Parts: sequence; structure tokens; C-alpha cells
Amino acid sequence: MESIGVLMTCPMHTYIEQQLAKRFNLFKLWHYPSLSAFAKTHATAIRAVVGSPKVGVDAATIDSFPNLEIVATYSVGYDSIDIQRCREKSIPVTNTPNVLTDDVADLAIGLALTLLHKISPSPKLSGKAVGIIGLGRIGSEIAKRAEAFGCPISYHSRSQKRECNYKYYPNILDLAANSEVLIVACTLSQETRHIVNRPVIDALGPKGILINIGRGPHVDEAQLVSALRQGRLAGAGLDVFQNEPEVAQELLGLENVVLTPHVGSDTVETCIAMADLVIANLEAHFLGNPLLTPVYPLLRS
Ligand code: NAP
Repeated sequence: MESIGVLMTCPMHTYIEQQLAKRFNLFKLWHYPSLSAFAKTHATAIRAVVGSPKVGVDAATIDSFPNLEIVATYSVGYDSIDIQRCREKSIPVTNTPNVLTDDVADLAIGLALTLLHKISPSPKLSGKAVGIIGLGRIGSEIAKRAEAFGCPISYHSRSQKRECNYKYYPNILDLAANSEVLIVACTLSQETRHIVNRPVIDALGPKGILINIGRGPHVDEAQLVSALRQGRLAGAGLDVFQNEPEVAQELLGLENVVLTPHVGSDTVETCIAMADLVIANLEAHFLGNPLLTPVYPLLRS
């Protein structure tokens, strides 16, 4: 496979760069002045693109490479990939589910604990009502961890999960009103952009804390800042931000926040597992085998 051209959109972990370079003809987009400059000389060489939440794969990138066969994202979330364009062109997309679930759930609880200990007078996490937006892989692991702290769990998602006994709120305002700690763990889409808005923040209330380990645009950041400033919300623990990698100055100046720079899945073990999964998907594709973790089913001709 050494002759197959694979393009990485931005620096990721050293391990994935090394492993891709061992197996493929690896190109690094950030070594070139621009996408168009790169495409001028290498357009036909590229058969796979590996993106990440930091620099995804947009329509311009997809359209730049006439021989593009597969797009892989070094993340479980695929909001930075133009899925519609990939589907139009019958290009499969893969992501990295499951292998990062524990880490992100750990971070959500870590942010909540750190934040509560920072807020004065410090309230405790044990026994607090925890509401989870998105009871998927990560949300379910957050729930398990919060249960161990004796927290009653409730959640909001598109559908009720029959396999658990947590209280389901079809309406997010009801979830927020009945939560002391509200944790965002859903997919980012048009429907969930600003799912945490002013009414949700107000329903959570002045003793409530918000944790976001999903994606920055889930939260209306301007409304969050004003609620934190005015004491309409007790605090926020954020791993993700509206305009990454920038973090709003207004957030940096607040006392009642704990901020981490989108590091939910950044442990050594998980970075390696994610890289191995990206590579396993690429190898499966080029060997004509079924993909391990396709984002959507695609019929092969
Ligand atoms: P998942 O298993 O697919 O779970 C996604 C959840 O979102 C599901 O419970 C789904 O509900 C819910 N959801 C989707 N659309 C919704 C809507 N319109 N309203 C309410 N809920 C909705 O995904 P996951 O593996 O847990 O990952 C979740 C997200 O975490 C990723 O998409 C990514 O953005 C983020 N993430 C962040 C980091 C980080 O470093 N901070 C790392 C990894 C992942 P239904 O089941 O009812 O459809």
C-alpha cells in the first residue's frame, strides 16, 4: 500500500503520523501553503483523506481530489466532515467510536468535580441530580460514573432508552429544570446547535452547573457568559468551545469556570487506539474488506 496517497489535514498525534507514513505515501497538508497549492501538484495522488475536529474535510477538499475513495476522521464526532458531499460522491466515511468513550466520560466527571471544588462555597457532587443530554456511548458511561457518586440520573435524547431505568425527558427544558449538573454529550447537528440556549440555562438556574464535553456549538456561548457573569448559573466546565482553537476572552476572565482545551480523548492509550482504528479502516478499504466503523452504510459495486 506504500504507493497509495493519503493526506492528513492537520497535525494529530505523532503515533498516527508515524503509522500512516509506514504504510502509505503520506502527505501533510500543513506543509503546503494552501489546499489549492497542494492540489495543483498532488491532486491525482490522493486516494484517502484523514481529518480531525481541528481541521475537517470540507466540500472543497473532497472536490480537490478526483481519485478520492475514502475519508477517515480521527474522532467519533463527524461534524467536521462534509457528510452530504461524501454521500453524493459515494465516498465512505469512517470514525473512531467506542475506543475513546471512557476517557471522555472520565473528563466529564473530572470537570464537574474540579468545578464544584472551585466554586465558593464549594457544593459536593455526591447525590446531585445529574441530567445528560445525549445518552449515547459517552453519555451512558457518564451516567454509570455519576451513579457511583450516588447521583440520580435523568436524560434527554431523541428516543427513550428502554435498556436503562434513568428518567427520560422528551423536553430538554424539563431535564434542565430537574438537574443540578447538566452534561452535554450529544452529537452536533443542525438540531443540536445551541441546544443549550438561554431558556435551558435559566431552567438549570443559579445553583446549576453546566458541563460540555460534546462540541462548542452545542452551547450558546454568549448566553452562557452572561448567565455566569450575572450569577444566573453557578458554573461551567468546558472542554469544547464555539470558535476553537480560540477561547472567548470573556470565558477566560471568569472565576466560576474550568476550561480544558478539547482534550477529551487525548490520553496516550486512546490516541493509539484511535490511530489504529483509522488505519484499520483504511487498510480494510484498500484490501476490499468491510469497514470496521463506517459512519453510514454504503453499497459497494
Ligand atoms: P453516540 O453514541 O452516537 O451518542 C450520541 C447521542 O446524541 C445519542 O444519545 C443521541 O440520541 C443524541 N442525539 C443526537 N441528536 C440529538 C438531538 N437532536 N437531540 C437530542 N439528542 C440527540 O456518540 P458518542 O460516541 O457518545 O459521542 C457523542 C459526541 O461526543 C460526539 O458526537 C462528539 O461530538 C463528542 N465527543 C467529544 C470529545 C471531546 O474530546 N470532548 C471526544 C469524543 C466525542 P438518540 O440515541 O436518541 O439518537
